[in-house]
Amino acid sequence: MAMCDECSCFDDSYIETALENVTENHKDYANDKYYYWHGDIQEDYQMPPGYDCLCDECFSTLKNKGKIIDINSPAWDKDKHGWFIPYKEEK
Ligand SMILES: [Zn+2]
Repeated sequence: MAMCDECSCFDDSYIETALENVTENHKDYANDKYYYWHGDIQEDYQMPPGYDCLCDECFSTLKNKGKIIDINSPAWDKDKHGWFIPYKEEK
């Protein structure tokens, strides 16, 4: 299943596994989008904490805002980046 953690759009595989009753008529249904999984790209890109799956649109938006760090960026820290970071509330 694929569902974007930013805008909640989803693809066909999500419909099959969803607990709630969703159909292709749902406003967030977007099977033509590409979905990035953190586990597939984590060696090159660091998603913001708590993000596991992003559609291609949100991926580029967050990347343009500097929220997704790529391995060639000076902000890349090999001790902190390269794997899923759970979301933590700011204290
Ligand atoms: Zn999205």
